[in-house]
Amino acid sequence: MSDCVFCKIADGSIPADIVAQNDHAVAFRDLDPKAPVHVLVIPTQHVASVRDASGPDADRLLGALFQFAAGVATDLGLDERGYRLVTNTGPDGGQSVFHLHIHVLGGRLMAWPPG
Ligand code: AMP
Repeated sequence: MSDCVFCKIADGSIPADIVAQNDHAVAFRDLDPKAPVHVLVIPTQHVASVRDASGPDADRLLGALFQFAAGVATDLGLDERGYRLVTNTGPDGGQSVFHLHIHVLGGRLMAWPPG
């Protein structure tokens, strides 16, 4: 999508601190980190949010994205202490960028319930 900042990161037209990528997903550091490790994992294909991932490809897209996020967490050394994966969805979910993304948060103890 031409006006989507995460599509532009995925196609390389705007810079990001990329930590991992493959043909279907990109992981890059959040500009405004909320934890010592804060990485965003996005599909290269534009999908607005998890509720918009529907149809025959949705299982594969979401499964691959979560597996990729877990691999990124491993590579960033988060397995031993653990980490949190979050996907904010819609206004009440606190979503501000409408391109599906998983936050990978780690490096500190996470509070529960989230704010
Ligand atoms: P959310 O509020 O769940 O939609 O999360 C969007 C996240 O994207 C926020 O944590 C922002 O700090 C982050 N963000 C927005 N623009 C960029 C960017 N150009 N590069 C890296 N992170 C960004």
